[in-house]
Amino acid sequence: MLVKNNMESFVMDNLDKVLANFTDCCRCEQCRKDIIVLALNHLPPKYTNSDIGDVYTRLDSYWGQEDAEIIQEIAKAAAIVTKHPRHDVSQIKK
Ligand SMILES: [Zn+2]
Repeated sequence: MLVKNNMESFVMDNLDKVLANFTDCCRCEQCRKDIIVLALNHLPPKYTNSDIGDVYTRLDSYWGQEDAEIIQEIAKAAAIVTKHPRHDVSQIKK
């Protein structure tokens, strides 16, 4: 059985768009993952059967309604990670 949480893709797709407004937020892999995980923990999962061919068409109409909420959660997560980054500073390439 193949199921997928489409909320994951949606958060990842919107991450860069939201981070564009957080100029002081770190963009390292650790911080990006932390933002994604934090946002996902505050958003309901949206599981779909990955065999469904028209899934994106259906989601498009669905996402329209929840866009604002998802972007808000990513922004909240980015604000938290900006204040409390968990990355190892020695690992960051400047
Ligand atoms: Zn970082």
